[in-house]
Amino acid sequence: MTIFKKSFTQQESIPEEGIEAAIAVMRSGRLHRYNTLPNEKSETDLLELEFAEYLGVPYCLACSSGGYALHIAMRAAGLQSGEKVLCNAFTLAPVPGAIHNSGGVPILVDVAEDYCIDLEDLEAKASESGAKYLLLSHMRGHVANMDRIMSICKRYDIFLIEDCAHTMGASWDGVKSGTFGDIACFSAQTYKHMNSGEGGFLTTRHQEVMAKAVMHSGSYMLFDRHFASPPKAVFDEIRYETPNYSGRMDNLRAAILRPQLAKLDEKCANWNRRYAVIERILTEYPIIRIPKRPESEVFVGSSIQFSIPSFSAIQIVQVIHECEARGVVLKWFGSAEPTDYTSRYDSWRYIEDMPDLPNTRTILSTLLDMRIPLTFSEEDCEFIAQIIVDVVIGSE
Ligand SMILES: *Cc1c(COP(=O)(O)O)cnc(C)c1O
Repeated sequence: MTIFKKSFTQQESIPEEGIEAAIAVMRSGRLHRYNTLPNEKSETDLLELEFAEYLGVPYCLACSSGGYALHIAMRAAGLQSGEKVLCNAFTLAPVPGAIHNSGGVPILVDVAEDYCIDLEDLEAKASESGAKYLLLSHMRGHVANMDRIMSICKRYDIFLIEDCAHTMGASWDGVKSGTFGDIACFSAQTYKHMNSGEGGFLTTRHQEVMAKAVMHSGSYMLFDRHFASPPKAVFDEIRYETPNYSGRMDNLRAAILRPQLAKLDEKCANWNRRYAVIERILTEYPIIRIPKRPESEVFVGSSIQFSIPSFSAIQIVQVIHECEARGVVLKWFGSAEPTDYTSRYDSWRYIEDMPDLPNTRTILSTLLDMRIPLTFSEEDCEFIAQIIVDVVIGSE
């Protein structure tokens, strides 16, 4: 039996320039983002400017995590306690968690066959719930039809927050993911597209939203030291009315992220080559279903999802175990028991009036997920895909 030996959680090392920049920050002792010399921009300031430029938006706030960015995004958007927030039922736990943290009530929306949010259900729930916010998770990098999303948001006067944890570097119809919504949030946690261990970004075009986000993030009264940020006058009232929810980024993290941002597009291309190898092999077998991705979608294949619709739960568990025995780590979004980064919506028991979403449960029941770290070569990816195929065919 052939066994794959590399680790599915081993990321690439930090670029040398990042390591050197981090050492320089440590030598200076000035790790706090506001601990600057006169007229100096800190690593965090520079990172924010560079990220805003990369995305093509005026404002960017670097903060402590992606989940934190989502939390203050909803606060800065003016969400009041008890207000409803539409969100994907198929997403990761920090998404409903951020809604809860900001006092909102999640209204879970079905997943569709293409693994994106179900647009019919979104429209129905937008209409019947009266929710004024949508936290749209581009879950596992699958970008929904953004024309339809935008038209639903317009029709129901919905404030759109994009969760771009898996779409940093992706686009729809030539428009970057994260520039459709009123606010976008990104993560720089180790398993996302840039790695500072922990970290996140909030981006927006709205002056007031940005001013509130800066205040929330714990800027004390140093908001005029933000550069990818609106003019000082915008803070006149906001400074008194906006609580400090302390969650800043520090210069050490920013220092290691800046060279990664410079290489982001190159990294995304590297992911997509690996993704394409696995996709090509798996799609040769009709028993395995990988939704065809629309031409408008430029995704980042940092992970791959596929379904085996004809399999029972028992067969899916068998596939996972046999793949694991051969060194291939698959995750299952259909398990009732939350494990590792997967959890099914009905395991988030703090949500009141949990809806029954049979379509979502059916789709998730055979949906498997695999990370594709860049430490794998394209040959590794071929080998892995072959193992998956062997195991699936053998479990029929
Ligand atoms: C990772 C992740 C987040 C949160 O990011 P953290 O930086 O880990 O807080 C939010 N949404 C999705 C879909 C994620 O995968």
